[in-house]
Amino acid sequence: MSYIVNKPENAATPAPRQNKLAVSDLDYVSVSPLNLEALRRMRILIVDDTLDNIDLAKAMLEKSGFTNTVSAQSGPEALEQMRESIKDGVSDVDIVLLDVMMPKMDGYEVCRHLRSHSEWADIPTIMITANAAWKDDIARASFDAGATDIMFKPIRRSELIPRVISALSLKRERDLRKRREQELETELAERKVMEARLQYLVAHDDLTGLSNRRRLEQALDNAINESQTQKHCCALFYIDLDQFKVVNDLEGHVIGDRLLVSIANRLRREIGTQDLLARISSDEYAILIEQIEEKAALEKAQSLRKLLDDFLYRVDDREYHIGASIGVSIIRPDEPITTSEVLARADQACYVAKTHGRNMVHMYSQEDTEMHTLRSAVYWVPLIRDALANHKFRLFFQPVLDLSSNEVTHYEALIRMVGENGALVTPDNFIPVAERMGLIHDIDLWVVGHAIDVLKNLPEDKSHISLNINLSSYAFQDPELLPLVRDKLASTAVAAERLTFEITETAAVANFAQTREMVRQLRALGCRFALDDFGAGFNSFNYVKQFPVDYLKIDGTFITNLVNDPIDQTLVKSMVEIARTLQKQIIAEFVESKEILALLRQYGVDYAQGYYIGVPGKDIGGDLQPE
Ligand code: C2E
Ligand code: CA
Ligand code: CA
Repeated sequence: MSYIVNKPENAATPAPRQNKLAVSDLDYVSVSPLNLEALRRMRILIVDDTLDNIDLAKAMLEKSGFTNTVSAQSGPEALEQMRESIKDGVSDVDIVLLDVMMPKMDGYEVCRHLRSHSEWADIPTIMITANAAWKDDIARASFDAGATDIMFKPIRRSELIPRVISALSLKRERDLRKRREQELETELAERKVMEARLQYLVAHDDLTGLSNRRRLEQALDNAINESQTQKHCCALFYIDLDQFKVVNDLEGHVIGDRLLVSIANRLRREIGTQDLLARISSDEYAILIEQIEEKAALEKAQSLRKLLDDFLYRVDDREYHIGASIGVSIIRPDEPITTSEVLARADQACYVAKTHGRNMVHMYSQEDTEMHTLRSAVYWVPLIRDALANHKFRLFFQPVLDLSSNEVTHYEALIRMVGENGALVTPDNFIPVAERMGLIHDIDLWVVGHAIDVLKNLPEDKSHISLNINLSSYAFQDPELLPLVRDKLASTAVAAERLTFEITETAAVANFAQTREMVRQLRALGCRFALDDFGAGFNSFNYVKQFPVDYLKIDGTFITNLVNDPIDQTLVKSMVEIARTLQKQIIAEFVESKEILALLRQYGVDYAQGYYIGVPGKDIGGDLQPE
């Protein structure tokens, strides 16, 4: 097939004349032998009222390997064939050789029909005229009718075949491009659906279909803003069922779940369309009402309390009185407040309502929290100070398994405080207080310095080990952090790659620009980053995309029930897919069983961490390693 491949000098002379619709020299040359095979399988329709002409064209084509030919002896017959050629909206005819002069319906008219149907509009059509030489008016009439090329009788094979090849290869390219575009479109749509599903799952409670805590927090955020700008009050109710546990314990989970759904439905009927009802933990609901005054809010809370007080839950012949305690927290336009404060206040008020004997409504008041926070801060602050001054913090290390090499390559450093009688205190006891009381800063710096020392002191055979360290969100707003890390790495000669900072998604998002800049600088040193608790705050897929981290660490709550929970499975698979798209490595925490680990391997997760692999321990090394 020397006239097809290479040879520009041949390419320049395939046809006596190249009209604007013919293929350029370059395209012509680029038809590879492999493509030619594909072109030869394409379907050619020959339309001519003279059978001899059809046979002649067929013979020429066949000789060059184009055997997929069909023919029609008149315009109407050609159109009939074209109609039959459409399958799933696509015609399987790839090119039409069309005689101009035919009785009844001439070639121009056939051509015009073809062009007016979307299924046929892109099929190349070569007009074949009885004229022996170029004639402007025939050419114009042909192209006006929509022809893509024109040839003059008698047709020679050396002329016909290159024209057919050019037209077919152009069409094939266009078909392929179109198909790829459609595939991309489908892919995109699928991704959108997946994202939407993720968003839904993340914002809603599976059992009741109500909003979940996350969604409530978002709504609270908005409500606070609106309250400030529109100068109105909003109310948050925290509703805790008094006797849910009794039903759940006596009647089992299934009945317990049914009760939760039926309470959800009851509450749903009581609230306005603008109000938000959420289930925020197993037996706690919250209602956010915007534009409501304090007095009306209290009345509403009382009526909800009464509703639940009147509600009797029947199981066979047994009857349960459920009842609820309700805490109310008011958002006022003149009082700056954060989402977590509103929630904490409502929670606090609910707690007070409970301690006052249940089935009560309590409105938050300043004294409630003061007592509460003071109690814990008064208790913890001296202990934290003492721990900082007298070396009573310890780092524990939990192994992280690299699933591709089956080796432990990382450890997560987790802080502990040595308590009064030598007992170890876990961080959830003192980190929140430290954050509130401004002590977190010193803890963060202690952790960074200490972790680097640990790395420095590891024996040679563990020099490949790296540490993941948790830092509070405040750390990344602290100008001291970067110089500390830089100097400490320099003075200890520990490679920066051996440090991975874990930062939670919520912390990252809260102070996005500033945190991102700090992350960028630390990464420039060579340190790595992991987005901790990934998935717990999913509204931020966009942020994740923009956030320069190396690892995504799937929140443990998605992992613990993985084996039995199909929703978690879907979510985790989606998260792995997202990580792949973003070219980040993925870590799963809270891996508590062999079965979970097997699933994670199957999903293509890169690293696993959890009690099944190893509990946090005093030393690095000597860990249980699953087969
Ligand atoms: P995190 O970063 O999500 O850490 C994982 C927590 O889950 C650790 O609790 C760990 O002991 C626990 N864990 C590990 N494997 C499993 C498992 O298989 N199942 C279950 N249920 N839990 C598992 P820990 O040590 O109490 O830490 C709690 C949180 O305190 C950490 O959550 C982190 O946010 C914070 N934290 C820990 N160390 C530090 C620190 O040095 N600095 C700061 N700022 N925060 C820290
Ligand atoms: Ca962590
Ligand atoms: Ca985590």
